[in-house]
Amino acid sequence: MNKFDYMSKYGYEQLVYFYDKETGLKGITCIHDTTLGPALGGTRLWNYATEEEAVEDVLRLARGMSYKNAAAGLNLGGGKTVLIGDAKKVKSEAYFRALGRYVQSLNGRYITAEDVNTSVEDMDYVMMETDYVTGLRKTSGDPSPFTAYGVYVGIKASCYEKFGNDSLKGIKVAVQGVGHVGYFLIKHLIEEGAIVTIADINQDNINNITKEFDVKVVAPNDIYSVECDVYAPCALGATVNDDTINQFKCKVIAGSANNVLKEARHADMLEAKGILYAPDYVINAGGVINVYQEIIGYDREEALVKTKRIYDRLLEIYKIAKEQKITTAKAADIMAENRIKLMKNVRSNYIKK
Ligand code: NAD
Repeated sequence: MNKFDYMSKYGYEQLVYFYDKETGLKGITCIHDTTLGPALGGTRLWNYATEEEAVEDVLRLARGMSYKNAAAGLNLGGGKTVLIGDAKKVKSEAYFRALGRYVQSLNGRYITAEDVNTSVEDMDYVMMETDYVTGLRKTSGDPSPFTAYGVYVGIKASCYEKFGNDSLKGIKVAVQGVGHVGYFLIKHLIEEGAIVTIADINQDNINNITKEFDVKVVAPNDIYSVECDVYAPCALGATVNDDTINQFKCKVIAGSANNVLKEARHADMLEAKGILYAPDYVINAGGVINVYQEIIGYDREEALVKTKRIYDRLLEIYKIAKEQKITTAKAADIMAENRIKLMKNVRSNYIKK
């Protein structure tokens, strides 16, 4: 990959490599776009097979954060950090404090948080060295309940769009993955009278749900073909693909997982099958909305009010999709890009400070 060509094509601002001699910390921070504000995105620790793979991942993820933050109505740009290493071996206080120092060196252009293989506890160390970290235990804490709440209101909005009624009473929902987000989502669904089927590969997590809620359990591979109104992917990405689309009996796909569509063309295939797709980065933004609140002064109620707006945002996206005869995934991108463009223009006049 020619990095400069790629950066120029998609409007990237900065790609920073860092290596700490003492701890062996090896990472890359990417800042995609800061039109709306400082770039925010978590730190992912992954044992990438090659450096190239890590670069591709950080570029893709940082750009994804620009769209997610823009679509969520936040004054944040998009960025991400990837650390190259084995999560079981590399973690230590020194390792994360070294990361904090590199984050600080960007002087607030980038704000980090937890992501895959980094925890709230790790961020406590990062915080010792930088002012630019969020998702901390002492303030906003675990984002999952907010993400789940956003997915819940997003399912309601999608049912309103598809069935003309946003009540979930009697609505059949198949939830794939009952971890952090899945648990809180199921709680909301059951409270509203939805009929829930679940699948997970982790029996402990299944038990955690069945001891508290009345749900049906199916084998992991059977979740796609469950007779239901809504399929809620809350486990992995890419579960909408050539293989699963043939199996779906749902009318709506709305869940927390990132990168739900394996390829962009799968949005067209869903559309052709009459399945309404709630774009992933719009419906799963509750966590980042909560974290943003931490930056501007943490207020739990305010974070919930802002998360609830996912309902209206999805309806707006569905409207754009119908008007422009495009997929809902494309409509979400357009909404995010328009907000960035608009704010760039709003700030173009000179104001003396
Ligand atoms: P988690 O790890 O707590 O839960 C994921 C669950 O999925 C686990 O129980 C796991 O066993 C299960 N799973 C994995 N592979 C599976 C398979 N093949 N079939 C069925 N189940 C499987 O993660 P989480 O925090 O609940 O996040 C769930 C998804 O939502 C992830 O894709 C994550 O990236 C995304 N997401 C989470 C948040 C958040 O606030 N936690 C925010 C935005 C997006």
